[in-house]
Amino acid sequence: MVSHCANPQCLKPLHYLREGKVFLFTGRNTSKGKSTLPRLEHYWLCGACAKEWTLMIDEENGVQLLERKRRRARTALVAPSAVPAL
Ligand SMILES: [Zn+2]
Repeated sequence: MVSHCANPQCLKPLHYLREGKVFLFTGRNTSKGKSTLPRLEHYWLCGACAKEWTLMIDEENGVQLLERKRRRARTALVAPSAVPAL
């Protein structure tokens, strides 16, 4: 389960799902030699961050944090180390 805000500048601990926004993305399972089901990845933005930011997935760069008002102007890659494991 996600335990912190996905914004690496925030990282607010998740206490209640009623605040903010949860994102669900399908990722590739990297197990070799077996056909496996797609891996589901959950991310959460706290209430304050969800007002200003959104998350999108990109084939090349993975999950990205984008400013809601200027989606193309400012992007920040969500470093895998900044998002706690499920
Ligand atoms: Zn936040």
